[in-house]
Amino acid sequence: MHYHVLTLFPEMIEQGLHTSIIGRAIAAGTITLSAVNIRDYAGNRYGKVDDYPYGGGAGMVMQAEPVYQACQAVAEKIGRKPRVIYLTPQGQTFSQAMVEDFAKEEDLVFLCGHYEGIDERVLEEVVTDYVSIGDYVLTGGELPAMVMIDAISRFVPGVLSNEESAQFESFQDNLLEYPQYSRPAVWRGKEVPPILLSGHHANVEIWRRQQSILRTWQRRPELLEEAQLSKKERQYLEELCRQERQKEEEGKEAPHES
Ligand code: SAM
Repeated sequence: MHYHVLTLFPEMIEQGLHTSIIGRAIAAGTITLSAVNIRDYAGNRYGKVDDYPYGGGAGMVMQAEPVYQACQAVAEKIGRKPRVIYLTPQGQTFSQAMVEDFAKEEDLVFLCGHYEGIDERVLEEVVTDYVSIGDYVLTGGELPAMVMIDAISRFVPGVLSNEESAQFESFQDNLLEYPQYSRPAVWRGKEVPPILLSGHHANVEIWRRQQSILRTWQRRPELLEEAQLSKKERQYLEELCRQERQKEEEGKEAPHES
């Protein structure tokens, strides 16, 4: 996987991604990262790439031509028109399904806006995907690009070692992950669930699946609509709902204190 990040702050990308698992993958050549400075395509000797918005209003807008030239330079380098992701709060919210889709590409271009954003005309010309990392506004697209690169890289073969496998994590199968524990077996009086110390792998698997269902039901119930559950697991879920309804009923029936 080759990442090309078009940005006004290449050092932010370089510094942010050369550590830990992603840094190791870059060093090993499993992924490559090139931070392209849009100012290099400014077309003036001051490196100025922004201007006032037409129609007035606060802030500055990144101009079309430098962004277009930076994009063209990447397309020429790789010999074809790549997928270009514009990071924007107006985009589709980033999800695990999108991670797995983007991970299939050979090259990905990330276009990072700053200030008030980028001239709409160049976006219409080059952007293939508009992606947001959530409903809030950041100062620039660099952190969202890094978030996406981190998540996508986990699905690039060879980036994770066996111990770090992406096989079961939250959002796989539309379930959140079960709770995790490590040594000591008793920490400040709190015990690890005994099943995890039993050495009975099949029962541990059943317990983990149930914990996943329980956690998803408690924290992100809407995910369960798309989850693939066995008949037994559906029964477990129905039992959870039944217990909840019972608690609610008991709450209603309890006499009010005066
Ligand atoms: N004026 C823009 C708007 O209201 O849609 C927001 C501009 S924001 C201050 C500057 C840049 O930060 C954007 O061009 C975009 O690249 C990036 N950005 C901000 N919030 C983001 C988010 N939630 N997801 C992805 N990118 C974001």
